[in-house]
Amino acid sequence: MGRIGVDLGGTKIEAALMAADGHVIRRTRRPTPAGDYPATLTLVADLVKELEAGHGSACRVGIGHPGAVSPATGLIKNANSTCLLGQDLKTDLEARLGREIRLANDADCFALSEAVDGAAAGTSPVFGVILGTGVGGGVVVDGKLLHGPNAIAGEWGHNPLPGGTGDELPGPPCYCGRHGCIETFLSGPGLLADHLRATTSTDGPAGEPAASAATPASAEEVVALAAGGDREAGDSLRRHELRLARALASVINIIDPQVIVLGGGLSKIDSLYDNVPRLWSPFIFSDHVATRLVPPRHGDAGGVRGAAWLWPA
Ligand SMILES: [Zn+2]
Repeated sequence: MGRIGVDLGGTKIEAALMAADGHVIRRTRRPTPAGDYPATLTLVADLVKELEAGHGSACRVGIGHPGAVSPATGLIKNANSTCLLGQDLKTDLEARLGREIRLANDADCFALSEAVDGAAAGTSPVFGVILGTGVGGGVVVDGKLLHGPNAIAGEWGHNPLPGGTGDELPGPPCYCGRHGCIETFLSGPGLLADHLRATTSTDGPAGEPAASAATPASAEEVVALAAGGDREAGDSLRRHELRLARALASVINIIDPQVIVLGGGLSKIDSLYDNVPRLWSPFIFSDHVATRLVPPRHGDAGGVRGAAWLWPA
């Protein structure tokens, strides 16, 4: 039986038909009907049917989604796509598709994809990290996702940034209600906001960026400025690398991963893979650190591939 993975994102919904060997046969994507839960269900069902029509038979379906299914209630929690919050996504999609489906957090799906046949294949434990609009993570041990009683394994993005000092405290406010979460520093918007705070003129009105020909509008632009030799953008990238090193060191101390795979938009920053492991040793309780930090093998297909891998061969 074929396998279909669906990545239910905040801006797009992507689905892929995957062969038994992990080869993606066909992918399709549409914009997410933002804020419209019934339309989201319909679109997921339509994408599955579209892929099945090309395949010629029914498939097993796995869904990667923001947040988690609460073991206490069966309803979606922790999702930044708020129209999913409190919904019985599993039951509702099973009703639309007429079969049992499997669900997992989107970062968990990314981690599973890279652990099964990606950049961390053949290693264990694996910590898969999403550094994008948000910061998430998943843990794979011996090829299987780590599941705990709260369905939050690997969710390091809402821990406080370790070793915060000076103006890192109490840290920026987070949508989760706390301050100084790892996500508020290490996400794409977090990196941009940190750069803008650091380059804000002390002479101008509060919150106004300094007059400059180089005021970036995204984390990618900060990185591009740094690559072009902009000193302040370079400083911002160095702060980001040290914070990522501190944050990953605390994960290494707990689960001792063989490989950490980065995903999400910021995983494209090449300097992370050399600089962060050079910085993390002082924060790790070990004489030698063998953990490797690597880029993803499957790029942005990790979400749909991991969702399909929720059904083992
Ligand atoms: Zn938070």
